[in-house]
This record gives sequence, structure tokens and C-alpha cells, in this order.
Amino acid sequence: MQERPLLVFDFDGVIVDGMAEYWWSSWHAAKSLAAEPHELSPEQVPELFRRLRPWIHHGWEMVLLAAELPGLDEASWVEGYEVQQHAALLRRGWAVDLLQGALDRARLQAVQQDRGAWLQLHRPFPGLARRLRSLDEEGFDWAVLTTKTEVFTAELLNAFELRPARLDGREAGPKPEVLLRLGQERPLRGFVEDRRSTLEAVLSTEGLQELPCYLVDWGYLKPADRQQLPPGIQLIDLDRLAKPLAQWS
Ligand SMILES: [Mg+2]
Repeated sequence: MQERPLLVFDFDGVIVDGMAEYWWSSWHAAKSLAAEPHELSPEQVPELFRRLRPWIHHGWEMVLLAAELPGLDEASWVEGYEVQQHAALLRRGWAVDLLQGALDRARLQAVQQDRGAWLQLHRPFPGLARRLRSLDEEGFDWAVLTTKTEVFTAELLNAFELRPARLDGREAGPKPEVLLRLGQERPLRGFVEDRRSTLEAVLSTEGLQELPCYLVDWGYLKPADRQQLPPGIQLIDLDRLAKPLAQWS
């Protein structure tokens, strides 16, 4: 076992703000399924898409949302996201794989056609890149664990000159499982994520109950996510992130 402790970071909404890219790629993926929202420009992120982003867990959901967005009733999606999602899939006769495939292809095409322009649609959150690099001096390694595919994540990390000790993408499996595997290889110092339900799932996993979990307040959070956090989950802001790890809790 390697003794240098590992701090694990989610990618979207933690390291990188990819809102412009989510919308752009989702719009084009919807277009490839003949369902692009004509009324909306792929260059201009609609406020409603931005507001509903915290409910999204997997990339394919963004494609569905893009197709549904014109005329979408926000209140009923916020109230019953999965019910609305399921109803929309049924109505359109779409399967999850179809949507995920369309998104992956839209991204791949964008990267192949104009890599620079695609990369420009992503922005690391302020100070993140510097802070990640400085973890090394504190004696920690850091890793990325994301539901994005490994290839796109690696491309972006590379563009920002960020070199994690390890990268696990969608292909690696559910986050709690990957964390358990990582924990068998080396000591885990914490998990930094912007999705509260993912942190809750991690903390309810046998073997991960003691893992320090951090919910980033700069990410894609639902309005209620910051309130009444269970023990084991700490809300962390950019000021706190900049401090030595020992002072995070
Ligand atoms: Mg995230």
C-alpha cells in the first residue's frame, strides 16, 4: 500500500465549470436526434438549463433537458424530476443509451473539429488549478473521480496542465465502489463533490462511513443542498479550500 494519502475530487462543478459546454453539446446532441430547441441558441446557456443543472447526474439527462426545455414547467420538474424525466423519455420513445451516445458523439465531433474552441467552453473555478497543484507540497496526492468519460476528462485536465495521481471516469463504475477500491490501495484523506446525494451514498456505504466528505458551495447545488447537512458532510467554500487541509474541518 502506498502511504501518501489521496484526496479525491469530483470534476464537473468542483474543478471545472463546464456550463457553456454542457449546453452547447446537449443542444447539438438533441439536434442529432432531430429534437434541437430551435428557439434557443447553442451559444447562449438558458437560465432554466442553468437552474436545473443541479438535478442532473448523468450526461444523457442534459440532452433530454435540452430537447424538453422550450415550454418546460420548471416547478413540476423540480418537484418530481425523475417522474418528469421518465415521462419525457416514454413520450419521445428514447432510451438512455441513445441519448448518451448522441452526447458522446457531439463531444467527439466538437473535439475533432475545433479542439481549442471546445476547450474554451470550460473554465476552472477560481484558484482551483493552483490549489490542486499545491496539495503536493502539503504531502497529499489528488485524484479525479467523475461520471464524465475518462477521455474527455483527461483532455481537459491536460489543457489546464493538471496532473492528478489518478483519474477514474464513468467507465470505472459507481463512485462509492471506486472509492472502496481506491481505499484498498492507499489511505483516503477525503472526497470533494458538489452532489449532496452522492456524498450521502458514499457515507452510507460500508467501509466509507469515516471518509471526510466535503460539499463544495461553488458547484451545481440545489437551493436546499446547503441546509441541515448530516454529520460527516462539511460545506466548503473557496476561501476554506485555499487553506491547508488540516484547517478544512
Ligand atoms: Mg459534480
